[in-house]
Amino acid sequence: MSFYVTTPIYYVNAAPHLGHAYTTIAADVLARHHRQRGESVFFLTGTDEHGEPVADAAHALGISPQELADRNSERFRALAPKIGASNDFFIRTTDPRHMEVVREVLARVHENGHVYMGTYEGWYCPKCADFKAENEVDEGERCPIHHIALTREQEDNYFFALSRFQEPLERLYAERDDFVSPRTRYNEALSFIKSGLRDVPLTRHKLTWGVPVPWDSEHVFYVWFDALLNYYSALSYAPVPARGPATQGAGEQSAGSTLTDTFWPADVHLIAKDILRFHAVYWPALLMAAEIELPRRMFVHGYLLMEGEKMSKSLGNVLDPFAVIEQYGSDALRFYLLRDVRFGQDGSVSTASFEQRYESELANEYGNLVNRTLSMIVRYRHGSVELGTLDDELAGDFEGLPERVAALIDGVELTGALEQIWSLVRRLNRYVEERAPWQLAKDEARAADLDRVLLSLAEGLRVVSVLLHPYLPDSTSNVLTALGAPDRSLANAPFGMGGLRAVKAIPALFPKIA
Ligand SMILES: [Zn+2]
Repeated sequence: MSFYVTTPIYYVNAAPHLGHAYTTIAADVLARHHRQRGESVFFLTGTDEHGEPVADAAHALGISPQELADRNSERFRALAPKIGASNDFFIRTTDPRHMEVVREVLARVHENGHVYMGTYEGWYCPKCADFKAENEVDEGERCPIHHIALTREQEDNYFFALSRFQEPLERLYAERDDFVSPRTRYNEALSFIKSGLRDVPLTRHKLTWGVPVPWDSEHVFYVWFDALLNYYSALSYAPVPARGPATQGAGEQSAGSTLTDTFWPADVHLIAKDILRFHAVYWPALLMAAEIELPRRMFVHGYLLMEGEKMSKSLGNVLDPFAVIEQYGSDALRFYLLRDVRFGQDGSVSTASFEQRYESELANEYGNLVNRTLSMIVRYRHGSVELGTLDDELAGDFEGLPERVAALIDGVELTGALEQIWSLVRRLNRYVEERAPWQLAKDEARAADLDRVLLSLAEGLRVVSVLLHPYLPDSTSNVLTALGAPDRSLANAPFGMGGLRAVKAIPALFPKIA
């Protein structure tokens, strides 16, 4: 079994911000979860470095486009480990190995007869690096996304015959109703297709900052086609991922097979809704034209809307991912973003709601559960849990949990899966209150009851920590190690499967910030 997940490659013209962190964190949760299943996983992210906006920005700074791309790409590369991302490769579209694949694939599209020379005239947004259809131009000929004046441009370009793919795309959508999700985005893409597809420019003539067209060196490929092909090109030259025994499965390659054999087609492309059309329409059409197998699905997440008026004292009014990580750690940011806004929808975030979730859920619910459980076992049983019977009622509450979580993650319902796990974190806290181990500890005659309660609690904590691992990789690793049960494979997730051994106390996981 293999699993290949991608983020969009981030455009180097901007600095990394919360939106980039959000997509990468979500992709990382998917990657880590699939590694827990014992699958071979490939997780790709990277930077998109060609096109007019980069050339213009570099010109304004008096440096070469390559210098600007190098400088800004590095900031995105540095973001990944800061947010705990376990990506297997970081692709850059200025890498000559990527550029060669772009040339090969698009030459094939040309040879297959899907490219012709024509003149394009239309409203062009230099920030989108895209022409706008007449019906998407805002009043005063402005970009609906960037609110800047569009320019009227005319160019002799090679065109990609997108209109020929209208029927094949309609068929694709009819056959595969999960090709794009959530449903609203599927409907949006399909209605765009049904409204009638027009051919689109494949190359730019006036621009030099791009991948040169193999059959006409006067042109470079339009940056979007160059960028989309990263998902395919990376597998042709990225190193084979090698991972340790804690995440078994990855890196198992039969001799002679390539990453493309193992991982293509991609299982999930994660994207934001502003790039829906390129991914849901142009990308499958391009792959059809090149006779390459289509990705299995794409999932479109919403926007995080900043509510600046809801301020926390420690973080000010802007939820800056770097400031959050600095003060609270990357686990806290990962948790908050996938917990507070339903993944797939737009939602508001604020520093005040971050702080509230941090205190009420991470510190008081999970953090406190960890500390109570570990410290009671240390205090009452010198850190050893006797293997014995588990509480039937609690076992019943955990029944089917790993399967429910896995099914939700298969649907990329990352918030729904987290809710399922969190309801059991709360159940364990109630269990502590109900059984009051500190009362049982006063009565020698109830030693067996205390053993059962402590073991059940430790086992429940182990299960929720295994399932939370993709969301909270650092803290759950600490907890599982403290429980003497570092195995985090999903096969061992069911309640009662734990090989708990010597338990030790650990410092508070989510300390209160003064
Ligand atoms: Zn624009």
